[in-house]
Amino acid sequence: MTDRGTDRTPVGPADATVAPRFAGPATFARLPTIDQVPNWDIAVVGIPFDGGTTYRPGARFGPSGVRQGSRLLRPYHPELDTLPFERCQVVDAGDISCSPFDIAAAVAQIEEAAGSLLAGGGRVVAIGGDHTVALPLLRATSRRHGPLALVHFDAHLDTWDTYFGQRFTHGTPFRRAWEEGLLLRDRSAHVGLRGPLYGSHDLTDDAAMGFLQISADDVGRGVDAVIDRLVERVGNAPVYVSVDIDVLDPAHAPGTGTPEAGGLTSRELLAMVRGLRRVSVVGGDVVEVAPAYDHAEITAIAAAHVLYDLVTLMAGQLPG
Ligand code: MN
Ligand code: MN
Repeated sequence: MTDRGTDRTPVGPADATVAPRFAGPATFARLPTIDQVPNWDIAVVGIPFDGGTTYRPGARFGPSGVRQGSRLLRPYHPELDTLPFERCQVVDAGDISCSPFDIAAAVAQIEEAAGSLLAGGGRVVAIGGDHTVALPLLRATSRRHGPLALVHFDAHLDTWDTYFGQRFTHGTPFRRAWEEGLLLRDRSAHVGLRGPLYGSHDLTDDAAMGFLQISADDVGRGVDAVIDRLVERVGNAPVYVSVDIDVLDPAHAPGTGTPEAGGLTSRELLAMVRGLRRVSVVGGDVVEVAPAYDHAEITAIAAAHVLYDLVTLMAGQLPG
C-alpha cells in the first residue's frame, strides 16, 4: 500500500550479478512478491482467465508466459529516463484466482480482487488472460478514480453486444463498460483496428458510443500524429490503457487468440505507449498472450516490454 510518510528504499528486482536472469524468482521482472515488502506503489497482477475467448483458447497461461518473458528486463528505462523500481515500490501480486467455468463468477472475482488491491491507494497493471478481464478491471479502477478515458490498443473493437447469447466475452468488454458509465464520453480511442468485420454497423455502433477509431493504417502513416491525437483526445482525464497484444502484427505476436494480418510493429506500439507520458495513466492491462501459439517467446517478450513501459510511465507520474 502506498505510504508516503515512510522513507523506505524500494526493494528492487533480484540482483542479476548474483543470480543470473534465467534463474531466481519467476515473478514479473524478478521483482519481490507483494508479501515480501511492507508497502507498495504499483502492483503487477496476473489474471489467468480465458473463458471468454471466441477462437483459440490459451490466454490463461498468459501471466506465467509473460513473467517468463520478462526475465531480461533491466532497471533503467532510457527513453523515459526513469529507474522505475527505484523511484517507487513495484511488486508482483501473484495471480487472481477465478473460476475457469463460470464467466460471470470470474468477472465478479476479478473485480473484487482488483478492488482490494486498489483500496490501498496503489496502482495496478494486469497481465491477462483474455480481454474479458478488462471489464472488471475498469469497474474497480473507475470506482477509485471516477469515469475513465480508455486508450485501447487492439486489432478489434471489442464493443460487440453478445456472442452465443453471452454478454461477458473477450469481444464485448468495452460495450459493457460504456453501458455501465465507466468511460468518459468522447475521451476514449481504439488504436490499431484492422481486419474484416460483420458489417459497417460494427463501426457506426462503436462510434455512437463515443470511441475514436484509429486504424493500423493510420498508425502506418505516422506514430507521432497518432500520439498527438490520443493526447488531445484524453485531455486531463484519468486514463486506463488496455493493450490486446493482437494489435501487433502476427509476425510480432503470433502467440494470441484471434490474430489479424497487417498489424503494428512492437516498435510502433512501444512508441505510442511511451507517448502517453504526457497524460495521467491510472491503470492498465496487457491481455491475450496465449503462449501455446508463441514461438521463441516473441509474444511474451513484446508483452513484457509493454508492461514495463506502463509501469515506468506510472512510476514517473507518481509524486516524487
Ligand atoms: Mn483483439
Ligand atoms: Mn481485445
